[in-house]
Amino acid sequence: MADGTWGEPGRVTAHGNGLWQIDLGFRGREGVIAAYLLAGADELALVETGPTTTLPALLAGIRAAGFEPAALGRVFVSHIHLDHSGGAGVLLRDHAPEAVVHVHPLGAPHLTDPDRLLASAGRLYTGRMDDLWGEVAPIPAKRVVAWSDGDSVETGGRPLTGLYTPGHAAHHVTLWDPFRGVAFTGDVGGVRMAGTGYAVPPAPPPELDPEAWAGSVERLRGLGARRLFLTHGGGFEDVSAHLDQLMPNLDELRSIVKAALLGGEDRAALTERVHAHVAEKLGPVEPGVLANLEWATPSFLAAAGLSRLLAKRGEVPAAAA
Ligand SMILES: [Zn+2]
Repeated sequence: MADGTWGEPGRVTAHGNGLWQIDLGFRGREGVIAAYLLAGADELALVETGPTTTLPALLAGIRAAGFEPAALGRVFVSHIHLDHSGGAGVLLRDHAPEAVVHVHPLGAPHLTDPDRLLASAGRLYTGRMDDLWGEVAPIPAKRVVAWSDGDSVETGGRPLTGLYTPGHAAHHVTLWDPFRGVAFTGDVGGVRMAGTGYAVPPAPPPELDPEAWAGSVERLRGLGARRLFLTHGGGFEDVSAHLDQLMPNLDELRSIVKAALLGGEDRAALTERVHAHVAEKLGPVEPGVLANLEWATPSFLAAAGLSRLLAKRGEVPAAAA
């Protein structure tokens, strides 16, 4: 993996009650991608794996929390985008021989046979797949647990329920711990860097669905969660204010991309407009925060996802998108 490995040393934050946040050091940066370790007397569990390129940081983080990766019993992935679950195959194959991975039924086939997923991602990340994600190994079907909306398991010292929350992806699941009032929101709960107020709804192709996403936000709101843990940005306690801004923020991005497309702008110009908008909404921040946000939710992906959506809905001519 030579120059495609980052993530030293895997900074770990203990949140109490057997919950640790492991920063995966994606691109050598802190705050871009996190995984969450859940420990109880019964079983060690993990929420999100990150990509294979950050596995060294994940493994170091699990050890820093006082556990061995081989003790992992269950791994949960919110969805099968490579920044969330690309490392699951190698983790299970090489480091966690007893673990199974839980995923929505629509995502399961992509974990057992990632070829289509890799072809699709490869069209977006031309020539950069290995550098960004590393190996994406197939997972034997007997180690993949397809779980549907409302399914619950007792693991990592807590009950965990899978909530089907589409919109960002058609197979997205939020992990809900009703005892502690904590939700692990993957990407459907947005991307927001620590210490900032602006939450970005990541809008990549091909499954972006704003109406479904709005329904998922309503569902999250209805949980009455005390805290949201984002894969990109960590934990936030201003739950209502955070959730309230997601759909308006998506609408703003959609309007910007639509106007630019109708004005005849090309994809590079769209990407620049999305980036400039995010920078403006973010306001004055510490150096590196905007770059972290861009790594977590790249502007070119939002430009592509929103263009595709607008063409599909007939809001712009197909030729313009
Ligand atoms: Zn995603």
